[in-house]
Amino acid sequence: SKSIEVNDLNVFYGDFLAVEGVSIDIKPNTVTAFIGPSGCGKSTFLRTLNRMHEVIPRARVEGEVLIDGKNLYGANVDPVLVRRQVGMVFQRPNPFPTMSIKENVLAGVKLNNTRMAKSDQDALVEQSLRGANLWNEVKDRLEKPGSGLSGGQQQRLCIARAIAVSPDVILMDEPCSALDPISTFAIEELIAEIKTQYTVVIVTHNMQQASRVSDKTAFFNIAGTGKPGKLIEYDETA
Ligand code: ADP
Ligand code: ADP
Repeated sequence: SKSIEVNDLNVFYGDFLAVEGVSIDIKPNTVTAFIGPSGCGKSTFLRTLNRMHEVIPRARVEGEVLIDGKNLYGANVDPVLVRRQVGMVFQRPNPFPTMSIKENVLAGVKLNNTRMAKSDQDALVEQSLRGANLWNEVKDRLEKPGSGLSGGQQQRLCIARAIAVSPDVILMDEPCSALDPISTFAIEELIAEIKTQYTVVIVTHNMQQASRVSDKTAFFNIAGTGKPGKLIEYDETA
């Protein structure tokens, strides 16, 4: 688990400034929630923390993002390695529909290590699914498609896929907004558990959720201003 330091971050889509002047320090093994109205730039901000914006046409970043003191945007930094170091969980659970549960867990790992021994794969699958509080529910159906699981289970499968590559940081973009309350509770519990191993950044527009899961809450700008996303308040008390 590593620290995250953001300095004077601006994010543009073409000429449009979507996020302006964000600076923040995030300590290791904490959960930080970013909260704010729709369209204020939360997802945009999150994507810059693992260079995911690079797959978006015309998106451009100014400023620095340091993970454990190393600039993500430095020369010679490989974006593929960055995305391994910084895992992402999305709003809609997105297991690969044609892959089994097991293949889903290994999907990110296999891109990097195609020669992993079968026994090591099995051990990693179990460890990752245990880490996502999903093992007991799926251990007898590992070869079945991930798409056969409930929404909440699919989201925990996506978390297992993220942790299987041993990232330092896990980003979550409204991970519960497509889920029912029981599944949401399970994910919130899981977030509290995984912060012992990872630095977690979660985007939410649910104030109660932010206070339940996070050590610190960062507020993006208020609704209806039509201005770029800015950090307007950061709770330093935690
Ligand atoms: P939030 O996650 O807070 O809802 P977003 O980061 O998705 O906000 O969007 C911030 C602003 O940037 C919005 O005005 C949105 O329309 C705009 N935006 C987001 N993605 C793109 C894109 N790919 N191209 C152009 N504008 C975008
Ligand atoms: P969310 O609120 O979950 O981020 P959106 O509906 O705002 O979802 O955006 C869905 C996708 O469309 C995102 O990948 C975002 O980058 C893109 N997008 C959002 N606003 C714009 C825009 N103004 N122009 C182009 N793409 C956009």
